[in-house]
Amino acid sequence: MDKKLFTPGPLTTSDSVKMAMTRDLGSRDTEFIKVVANTRQMLLELAGVSKDQGYEAVIMQGSGTFGIESVLSTVIPYDGELLLIINGAYGERMAKIAAIHGILTTTLRYEEDELPVPADVDRILTDETRITHVAVVHCETTTGIMNDLNAIGEIVQKHGKEFIVDAMSSFGAVPVDFKKAGINYLISSSNKCIEGVPGFSFVICCKESMEKCADQARTLSLDLYSQWKGLEKDSQFRFTPPVQVILAFHQALIELMEEGGVEGRSHRYFNNYQTLINGMRRLGFEEYLSEELQGYIITTFLRPLDPAFDFEIFYNKLNERGFVIYPGKLTKVNAFRIGNIGKLYVEDVHDLVFAIAEVLNELGVVSCSQSR
Ligand SMILES: *Cc1c(COP(=O)(O)O)cnc(C)c1O
Repeated sequence: MDKKLFTPGPLTTSDSVKMAMTRDLGSRDTEFIKVVANTRQMLLELAGVSKDQGYEAVIMQGSGTFGIESVLSTVIPYDGELLLIINGAYGERMAKIAAIHGILTTTLRYEEDELPVPADVDRILTDETRITHVAVVHCETTTGIMNDLNAIGEIVQKHGKEFIVDAMSSFGAVPVDFKKAGINYLISSSNKCIEGVPGFSFVICCKESMEKCADQARTLSLDLYSQWKGLEKDSQFRFTPPVQVILAFHQALIELMEEGGVEGRSHRYFNNYQTLINGMRRLGFEEYLSEELQGYIITTFLRPLDPAFDFEIFYNKLNERGFVIYPGKLTKVNAFRIGNIGKLYVEDVHDLVFAIAEVLNELGVVSCSQSR
């Protein structure tokens, strides 16, 4: 049996999703072309928007980062400027992408346990009128903090700017209101909350915004505009599509709809999260974020100060028992992370907590708290 992945992705997927991949299909096969069209349609439904309302779904080969790079390097014109709101490693990654492409960028940085302040965004957009686009991460997977898209989006709309959202680790399991938040581009990928396998990212975007992006992409392969035009023309990709990954993703979307869409999936993940924090607290672990900031996607726990706690051994012993957790990514604090997403249920979380208790015993850890 495969190990259970309590990580931010790739995740544990269903057998039926894996089975959907076990075929050969040409990229110009009519069946595949139908699956691509249907997948794009289902993504819009999942987002709660439609073509009639002026929204489009574009699939881009590569992992999630490729999708973000595709958006940043395509949609910001050469005389445009980006405001990046950063409170974690994935925000920093967007800054790196913008720098590589020579995109003029203003950054608004917060600590990893701080929510962005809409009034700060308002002040910058009032002062720096050259800014054309604002980007933020929805669920900062670095910590699991959930940024408030509606509050930030309201300010972005007030100033008439375009809003770019990295919803990689939230889309499909956390409700997003495209119109209220005024989102022009939202990026997510095949292997997170939709529970497909890794291989592509996708962008849900406003057609009106996209129409302005012809001939300004800074790369050939990640040109979001040309990709969109190609898909619109004949549902075909400009370059080899990840056929099997799309077949699996299509199946994953069907299963997500069967589970009750975003609402159904959010319930399962929320229950996983509740079960996890209750179990970990019983063992004495403390969370990095306060509960109001913490989303239900992934949870950061502080490493116990007890000298008997060695993270490498802890990790390996859990791994031997069939549970994969995730190291920390914080700049200032020693922590580790446990994901609540993927084809995992409350029983799996109970099993994980039980295994953690056993491993702590083996290590001789007396206390998991931050006080000695
Ligand atoms: C997973 C993730 C990404 C993209 O990561 P890839 O490894 O390129 O798929 C980007 N942003 C966030 C918030 C993520 O969680």
